Amino acid sequence: MKVIKCPKKMHKISSELSLSGKKIGFVPTMGALHKGHLSLIKKSVSLCDETIVSIFVNPTQFAKGEDLACYPRNFKEDKTLCRQEDVSLIFHPSSSAMYPNGFQSTVFPGKLATVLEGKARPSHFAGVATVCCKLFNIVNPSIAFFGQKDYQQFLILKQMVFDLNLPLKLFMCPIVREKDGLALSSRNKYLSKSERADALALFSALSAGKKLIFSGERNVSKIKNSMNSVFSDFPLAKPEYIEVADSDNLSPVKKCSGKTILLVSAKLGKTRLIDNMLVKA
Ligand code: AMP
Repeated sequence: MKVIKCPKKMHKISSELSLSGKKIGFVPTMGALHKGHLSLIKKSVSLCDETIVSIFVNPTQFAKGEDLACYPRNFKEDKTLCRQEDVSLIFHPSSSAMYPNGFQSTVFPGKLATVLEGKARPSHFAGVATVCCKLFNIVNPSIAFFGQKDYQQFLILKQMVFDLNLPLKLFMCPIVREKDGLALSSRNKYLSKSERADALALFSALSAGKKLIFSGERNVSKIKNSMNSVFSDFPLAKPEYIEVADSDNLSPVKKCSGKTILLVSAKLGKTRLIDNMLVKA
């Protein structure tokens, strides 16, 4: 398994692979790999000839005051995990290789990036879209694999691929959870023992909402109230948003019908977590 740091070299290798007829699967990550990331890698390995994983903590998707400096980094362990999963190559560029002096172009996502996470983190999705557009151009994949964990990100990137005629497909993999339901996230490492216990609020609220919908409730205010009330059992978890939305475009719905997604974000101390659940009403 090779580790490539230079974007030009990466592009040369991936172009040669595609020219020789290889189907490249690509898994973009910020490292600190866990079983959620590994599920994406396994999917890529099962569907593609070669799997390329990028490990890059992208500075442009962090706002000032966010956790860029202390974001967990563990390249040695990530490398071991990638090797075990039959990854062909890791792309691990430096910030200056991705954003050299004079860099000035940005992909601005549209309306989808103005709600939910986009409201809470206004510059976040422009950073994500820009780095993914660059990575797609450098790595040249047939399919890129993303997690449902970042559902809004997936929709924004799908829209970008369509709008900019990028020649690849995106594949969404289900959320991998701890035994008790907490969605795996690199940021779970920040949680103290008591915060970790109360982080279950997110999954519990989503499950309560889903249960109500399955029992026949369609009134979104009632569903949101019930989800909100779950948080009182987890005092360290402070909800930021609880939303019931159309899963195609994330616009809030008044009545559940067809494809619905429940989305929550909450803070536990300084740590901000997100989670979601797709519900077919
Ligand atoms: P990150 O390293 O946080 O940027 O995540 C890289 C990719 O892994 C993204 O597509 C995430 O949606 C995905 N991912 C993160 N956590 C999970 C999880 N618990 N289950 C499935 N995919 C995940």
